[in-house]
Amino acid sequence: MNNGLEAHSLSGPFPILRELGSLHRMIEEHLTKIHGHKKRVETIQLTRQAKNVELSEKKALHKTRLSEIKRLEIELAQSEENLNRAKAHSQDALGARQVESLEKEMIFLGQQISQQEESALNLISESDTLLSEIKELEQYLIGSEKALKEVSLEVEDLIQADENEIKNLKERFASKLTELAPDYKDAFLHVLKKFGKGKPLAWFEDQRCDCCRFMIDRQSGIELAHGIHPHFCPGCGRLLVMRTNS
Ligand SMILES: [Zn+2]
Repeated sequence: MNNGLEAHSLSGPFPILRELGSLHRMIEEHLTKIHGHKKRVETIQLTRQAKNVELSEKKALHKTRLSEIKRLEIELAQSEENLNRAKAHSQDALGARQVESLEKEMIFLGQQISQQEESALNLISESDTLLSEIKELEQYLIGSEKALKEVSLEVEDLIQADENEIKNLKERFASKLTELAPDYKDAFLHVLKKFGKGKPLAWFEDQRCDCCRFMIDRQSGIELAHGIHPHFCPGCGRLLVMRTNS
């Protein structure tokens, strides 16, 4: 048997190429779906990472605020003690100058105390806000951990299903490839490699490549239509295939 020529005089290369092209497309579609499934899990993981960072920052800030409040309370107690001492002294004061100086000190301390009280109140309210934000983040993380587990399981099944499909398609692809005459096989493998995830084949229609609209010369068109040997589009480099006839 004059293998190559005989084989395509029976069926012609184009139905085989069309089927290989569509198997290739289906494989790529499943790969894209797998990528999408993985992305779903990654998105949850990335959000969780960001929220975890936010949580530790807020916890650290909350800790700082608590120690600032503590320090301020000590200072406040000290100021109150100083004020009480000044009050006690003022009752025993003898000279007018001493009275005046103690009054000034009491005014100063009174102002200091109200400033310290105000600062403490601000810090307490800030710390309360942080605390509720921390609780919210912790709750979010608990919820999203559950979601992550569920989505991961779901995605695992989906990926498995797509991988099974890809396995079947690849088997069909490999078996179909053996039906191609050697020159067409080489040509197809060449465009497959060249275009990667893209479309390796282009339809030859109305004397043109349907992908890039390049006009194919008459002689090549005739050879092409008869499937004598492979033709690449001079415009885009894809392997030209008849859309309908065999
Ligand atoms: Zn083209």
